[in-house]
Amino acid sequence: GSEVDVDPGVEIDEENAEDDLLGGLQIDTTDDIEVPDRLVDQVIGQDEARDIIIKAAKQRRHVMMIGSPGTGKSMLAKAMSQLLPQEDLQDVLVYHNPDDGNAPKVRTVPAGKGEQIIDAHKEEARKRNQMRSILMWIIIAIVIGYALLTANILLGILAAGIIWLIFRYTSRGTDAMVPNMIVDNGDKRQAPFEDATGAHAGALLGDVRHDPFQSGGMETPSHDRVEPGSIHKANKGVLFVDEINTLDIRTQQKLMTAIQEGEFSITGQSERSSGAMVQTEPVPCDFVMIAAGNLDAMENMHPALRNRIKGYGYEVYMDDTIEDTPEMRRKYARFVAQEVERDGRLPHFTDDAVEELILEAKRRSGRKNHLTLHFRSLGGLVRVAGDIARAEDREYTTRDDVLQAKERSRSIEQQLADDYIERRKDYELQVTDDGVEGRVNGLAVMGEDSGIMLPVMAEIAPAQGGGQVIATGKLQEMAEESVQNVSAIIKKFSDVDLSEKDIHIQFVQAGQQGVDGDSASITVATAVISALEDIPVDQSVAMTGSLSVRGDVLPVGGVTHKIEAAAKAGCETVIIPKANEQDVMIEDEYEEMVDIVPCANISEVLEVALQGEPKKDSLVDRLKQITGTALDKQQPV
Ligand code: ADP
Repeated sequence: GSEVDVDPGVEIDEENAEDDLLGGLQIDTTDDIEVPDRLVDQVIGQDEARDIIIKAAKQRRHVMMIGSPGTGKSMLAKAMSQLLPQEDLQDVLVYHNPDDGNAPKVRTVPAGKGEQIIDAHKEEARKRNQMRSILMWIIIAIVIGYALLTANILLGILAAGIIWLIFRYTSRGTDAMVPNMIVDNGDKRQAPFEDATGAHAGALLGDVRHDPFQSGGMETPSHDRVEPGSIHKANKGVLFVDEINTLDIRTQQKLMTAIQEGEFSITGQSERSSGAMVQTEPVPCDFVMIAAGNLDAMENMHPALRNRIKGYGYEVYMDDTIEDTPEMRRKYARFVAQEVERDGRLPHFTDDAVEELILEAKRRSGRKNHLTLHFRSLGGLVRVAGDIARAEDREYTTRDDVLQAKERSRSIEQQLADDYIERRKDYELQVTDDGVEGRVNGLAVMGEDSGIMLPVMAEIAPAQGGGQVIATGKLQEMAEESVQNVSAIIKKFSDVDLSEKDIHIQFVQAGQQGVDGDSASITVATAVISALEDIPVDQSVAMTGSLSVRGDVLPVGGVTHKIEAAAKAGCETVIIPKANEQDVMIEDEYEEMVDIVPCANISEVLEVALQGEPKKDSLVDRLKQITGTALDKQQPV
């Protein structure tokens, strides 16, 4: 592999690096950190993708990048263009074809030459026009002179007018001499980078403008109406196409032809325009293609195009998170410096402001000992925080600014969830210390990063026929599964046969989008047991966790966001799976608001959640004897 790590130019305290949020970086502000010049050296994480880009640049191979938005796909594509040689850059000129006006000629010259050629042509045209008008005036003078001599004034003026018109009408011929430079690399310092994401056919493949005056001396010569596409502007450089599957199939087909041939004629893209009659000679389009998208996009793209790229290049997955090491944390500090310098107007960040951002990167990873690689949104946070500091004319961006920025840049889901909690506070759905039978405060995640409290109510009734699980909305399947698991446990300690009962499960606030069902199974189980045994549930407790048939509480995703949601809703205690204990990264303000109780099995959950001493104790005791201990090795669900 190629080592592209760059010394941050700052002293590092190696001894304490492990525990330091900045990985031992000795800085006061991000101003102290040196930002590498090359874009490829600025890329953080994504080692595999970076190595491939460097390799592919040397070999001029296409690359397909698969991964989440904002992880550096376009950044790497741009970085690749900096790595390609700039010596072979070319200018492309389109000339009038005197034999066939609808088939303009195409000429390629070394970069910078194009402008000289155009200038020379213009100069020549100017001279020729000058000569023509001198000639015209001489003829007119002769005609008028002759008319005066023969006293035939009227005829003379008429003849002069006709001569003037003839000259005017034919002057178009001299415009046609000047070629149209459609690709101008004269002042390029590096190989071109063209982002064709979301481009329509004309923008991607080139177009010929419509001419409203198709004849009669007013028309624009066809070669002057030719416009290059991204594929032509990317010649000798990089063509980046994100969400490649959104290109329509015919366009993908043409793109493939362009890749195969290395040149592609330009023609009018809209069928009924006069441009459609025009077709140039082939225009070079020898680019390296970087196609990007998520896994879905890849599957939906034109198979032949995909094979083409795959067969002649590389395919690489982008990582979503990376292991949290002191070295990585130092790079995240450099990321802040990079974003500040890229923006150009933001004040640099103080060390504790950077620490807060690194904490946020940990939190957003949603994984133990990892940092998120979703840099676009992290960069958004940097900009919002920096803007706050800038608005107040401060020299540096502080930790407070970062905290405020986080508040402001909440995702839509987060805003919805907060709004929902706010509204619910006015409602009867308030959290109380009272016990209610069959009602449990569950916790779920909306979107990616928003916790929400989702109360569950269970009611048990004698079955009308075979026992059924009846749940509201989309969560039917999940409710059935949870009840199934809990019924195996209930069978062991109780005489009640659940198969003879109808169990109604109601998700208060059902209809929420994006609620992850699976992680609510201990909630459903607790509600069912409470309803069955008539033991009230403490309403100041909230919980999340998945339940196994043995009664183990299995780990779930998003615990941090769920705990924060419970705290915001006013809960005092939150039950989480013991195996998720390490994933808790809540902010200080919440830490004082709630008690977090990690539980390994359902008996521990009930011990915390149920109220009404004698009955509860006997139930918990019975349960303890039958349930196993949690399997710590289980993967989160
Ligand atoms: P994608 O193309 O994957 O959607 P981009 O490359 O456009 O993402 O990333 C957006 C911005 O986020 C970049 O311009 C850069 O500032 C920052 N960024 C993204 N990924 C990285 C990374 N791996 N290292 C450093 N900065 C990154």
